[in-house]
Amino acid sequence: MNRLPFNKPFIIGHELEYIADAVAQGHLSGDGGYTKRCHRWLEEKLGTRRALLAHSCTAALEMAAILCDIRPGDEIIMPSYTFVSTANAFVLRGGVPVFVDIRADTLNLDESLVEAAVTPRTRAIVPVHYAGVPCEMERIMDIARRHDLLVVEDAAQALLSTYKGRALGSIGHFGCLSFHETKNIISGEGGALLVNDERFVKRAEIIREKGTNRSQFFRGEVDKYTWVDIGSSYLPGELVSAFLYAQLEHAEKITAKRRHICAAYTAQLVPLQQAGKLRMPPVDGAGNGHMFYIILDSLDTRTRLIAHLKAQGILPVFHYVPLHSSPAGCQYGRTGSAMTVTDDLSERLLRLPLYYEMGDADIGRVSGAIDGFFARGF
Ligand SMILES: *Cc1c(COP(=O)(O)O)cnc(C)c1O
Repeated sequence: MNRLPFNKPFIIGHELEYIADAVAQGHLSGDGGYTKRCHRWLEEKLGTRRALLAHSCTAALEMAAILCDIRPGDEIIMPSYTFVSTANAFVLRGGVPVFVDIRADTLNLDESLVEAAVTPRTRAIVPVHYAGVPCEMERIMDIARRHDLLVVEDAAQALLSTYKGRALGSIGHFGCLSFHETKNIISGEGGALLVNDERFVKRAEIIREKGTNRSQFFRGEVDKYTWVDIGSSYLPGELVSAFLYAQLEHAEKITAKRRHICAAYTAQLVPLQQAGKLRMPPVDGAGNGHMFYIILDSLDTRTRLIAHLKAQGILPVFHYVPLHSSPAGCQYGRTGSAMTVTDDLSERLLRLPLYYEMGDADIGRVSGAIDGFFARGF
């Protein structure tokens, strides 16, 4: 039986040629021609003041936490239903994640609960655009303005999604993108920090270059480079950037294909939704087709459906185990609201296979297997 994976990394254009070219150019460390091309692409497409490639979205979040000047005991409001890096990046600076519940429709931070979680120690809000579906940014930015907080968008899943016409990741003070092989546009591991507020650009460049003013030196703005601030090595080498640039050249095509897969899943599973067997993500015209999930009626149904699909060689995945009840989440963070929706939906959500090279027959095989599961009387 053919295995149908959950995710499959792919090559779409000139990835290997660009890598060979980077080698031929003799520049393999960071910030060469391919990195600069990626920066320009992100700045033009997303409308951010400054894009900076990083090793991962995790690294971009860590840079954002330094730029927010998080000090021990400072609080950061974020969902519990997210990947660990959203919280861990701030905990590394001594920050305390304050977890707030999510909305049942989008699984995004519930903006109506944010303000009640603000205390005198709050420094930042970190909305996560789950599945590339936008958080209510207008409301979140308004709360941030009134309480003098910074906003870091975890846009790891959200490249080329929009909110009221603006690119996700370009709305808060900072945006963090991921090019991990499970995301839409990939470079194996990879990410980017979007600096949307001019005030932070210079310091962002310094933090990314080990705390030195090397970027200014290369632009001829200072006559020597030296250690001026804290920082680390956050910039990727040119081989990664060369691969990434080849993917960015086809970003629209990749997004269109993923949206097609989501639409096909939706069309095929509508009868089960109408029969009350499952619920699907909101249909969102501005989304990027990052993820297709279904929400089942119970943890038990999910467990049995996973076994049923695996027996047919299909590999779905579930997430997230909420951070507020994880060992590190309990140690380093606290809750800022009841966690009813998070606790409930995280046990019932199942992600279906979705990758660029997935064909219509593959989609049919997955939805057919789900149909078969319910047809057996579940
Ligand atoms: C994937 C992901 C990350 C981490 O991205 P990396 O590039 O693997 O570090 C962070 N937050 C969210 C919401 C993600 O989905």
